[in-house]
This record gives sequence, C-alpha cells and structure tokens, in this order.
Amino acid sequence: MTTICSYTIEQYMKMIEDFHGSSAPGLLIGGFMVDLALKNKPECEFYDCICETATCLPDAIQLLTPCTFGNGWLKVINAGRFALTVFDKYNGNGVRVNLSASKLENFPEIKNWFLKLKKKQEQDKDLLFREIIAAGASILDIKEVKVSPDFIGKKKGSKISLCSQCGEAYPVRERDNGKCLICDGLNLYL
Ligand SMILES: [Zn+2]
Repeated sequence: MTTICSYTIEQYMKMIEDFHGSSAPGLLIGGFMVDLALKNKPECEFYDCICETATCLPDAIQLLTPCTFGNGWLKVINAGRFALTVFDKYNGNGVRVNLSASKLENFPEIKNWFLKLKKKQEQDKDLLFREIIAAGASILDIKEVKVSPDFIGKKKGSKISLCSQCGEAYPVRERDNGKCLICDGLNLYL
C-alpha cells in the first residue's frame, strides 16, 4: 500500500485538510517529496530543512517532520522552485528533492497544474489527485547536495535597539539607521 511517512494517503489527506484548510495538490506531492527525502538523507542525529518555495510545500514539511518555520529548523527561500532539501544540521550534507517538469509526460493533469497550462477552473481536480497518487515518487528528482554554510545553523542573535520612529524593539542591522525595517520603508501597512 502507498504510504507517506507511514501514513496512508487517506490519513495524510485528512491531515492536509485540517492543517492547510484545503486538499491542495502541492501538499500531496509535497508528502511524497518529504517521504523520499527522509528515506535518502544521510544518517544524522539532527536534520534541518530548506524549502525553495513559500507555496504549499512548507506545510508538507511542517506536517511530516519536526522542522517548522517557527523553530528555525525550516528555512523558506522564496525562489518559487518546487524543491526541498533535508540536511545534517551540523555539516550541511543532505538530499534535494524537486518535482521534475520533464517527468510529467504520462501525467498530463499534473503537468497542466504544475506549469499552469490550464486555468484552475478548467483543471480536473479528481484526475489530478489520481495522477499524483499513481505517480508517487516517479515524477521527482533527487540528488545529494552540500548546503552552503550561510544556511547552516541559527544566525547569532544581534543586539536589540528601539526604533526611533515607532519605538518598538528590533534587531540591529549591519547598516543601521536607527529605524526598524518597516519604518525604514517596507510599507507593510497603509
Ligand atoms: Zn519602527
């Protein structure tokens, strides 16, 4: 029987809906990606994850591993590539798994979804999920990687200053002008 990190497809789909709010195809594929990465990662005591997209995939990692955005063991790099890496948190040795655009010829509805060839309303969601389950790990690429030192471990805590404009506490930056990032022009709120 097909499983994702020891869960049945039905169990995992229920977990997705409870956590993510809907049964997103990217999270189902993400389940197979996490499963493949965990089965092939180097033996290590503690691992961290990098996710190369901010869409869907981080939630698969958070559901199936101890790595969350909040505990710092998951880093999200918003490059828009549907890929994740699981690596030894001390030496950076790990495996990267991505959804392969060149392996989708036999799975037209996955291709339509992944490459946005059809509008969402025109996609056949049932067929899409059937194709994803049938495809499993066969549409994924995996390779060994060594993560750059910049992405290993936690950043050393920097000093805290009070923003000259809003008065809130913020971490002092390398080139600091006494303002937090938001007051310095990020325009988060109107
Ligand atoms: Zn401020």
